[in-house]
Amino acid sequence: MTPSQARLRAGVLEELRASGAQSRAELARKFEVSRSTLSAVIAVLIEEKLVEEADGAHHATKAAGRPGTRVALAAPKGYFIGIDFGRLFIKAAIADANYRILEQVSSDFDIDVPADVALDLAAANVETIIAAAGIDRAEIKAVGIGVPGPVDAATGELHAGSILARWVGTDVPGGLSRRLGLPVYMDNDANLGALAESVYGAARETGVALYVLLSVGVGLGIVINGQVFRGSSGIAGELGHVVVDEHGAVCRCGSRGCLEALVSVNALAKALSVSHGDISSDEMLRQAVAGDVGANRVVADAGALVGRLVGHLCNYFNPELIIVGGELMRAGESLFAPLKEAMRRFSIARATENVRVVPAMLGEQAELIGTLLFAGEKARAAEARPTSAATVGRKARGQSS
Ligand SMILES: [Zn+2]
Repeated sequence: MTPSQARLRAGVLEELRASGAQSRAELARKFEVSRSTLSAVIAVLIEEKLVEEADGAHHATKAAGRPGTRVALAAPKGYFIGIDFGRLFIKAAIADANYRILEQVSSDFDIDVPADVALDLAAANVETIIAAAGIDRAEIKAVGIGVPGPVDAATGELHAGSILARWVGTDVPGGLSRRLGLPVYMDNDANLGALAESVYGAARETGVALYVLLSVGVGLGIVINGQVFRGSSGIAGELGHVVVDEHGAVCRCGSRGCLEALVSVNALAKALSVSHGDISSDEMLRQAVAGDVGANRVVADAGALVGRLVGHLCNYFNPELIIVGGELMRAGESLFAPLKEAMRRFSIARATENVRVVPAMLGEQAELIGTLLFAGEKARAAEARPTSAATVGRKARGQSS
């Protein structure tokens, strides 16, 4: 393709995006080129499946290529499945190629069950939503999964160590792929929340944003120039296991006094149980919103501790935006006010003077929406480079040479 054809190609795509279906003759007039030049570019775009005949396939054999036939941007095709593995739930959803969710299911779960049990449950949930959506399995392009632990960005393997102890040594994407007969790709849940917020949520049009996931686990997704930054091997953003009190509570990772051990919603509910009896994290959050002094105190202390680390992160990354996701955001100002105050106290003034701190616009769906976007990203990359899916699968099964 010559430079002038490439410019015409880009111009035609933009024009179809802006103004919808048009005939080849109209487009040729608009771009002041001959109909044959225009038709040649359209033929390439149809070949690339970016453009299609707008007036129905049944006309195509007779009319395709003729100047009067209208063409339009090709409608995105296929479906994606996303699975968000929380510590206490599995959410699964199926979406069309525009990421509109068609069916969603959530079930109780314990991440400390053996991985095979977890994969059986996830696969059963996926079969339920495929059946409910009435989708032909052949049209499903990919499955994206999010897990509360670090994932190797290149191979999709868990860097789980002791964080997901029962999952170590299990090929999670490969095992699910075998159960479903579909390509499966995996990433860390906070990265996926950050991805969703950067595409559809609070971080759209934002250069540098940090997504802080405060839930049963604590994570961080880093968005730089609109892209999720995963570090050299996928560990970037392991905020939950930053040690803030070396003599503090023992953490599931084996260390002591990790941020997660101190501010996970379970840890806060447990702290409150001394005065409030056995209390669930949901009830603790409801009481914080209702103004209960004790619930407000544990949430405010958590906010201040998170804010201190977010202040450090502002010195490192100089973000425009801090997005708080996960169920702890339900606590509202009793979390956000101390978080912002500590963030400012523990950073240089210029790093935080213009930083906005907001709740996730996609709420507690951010991670799940991220799994769908991630499936879409990977499916498109695999279509563009047909060997990549096979490579990921082989590495994930531990058979790389
Ligand atoms: Zn830890």
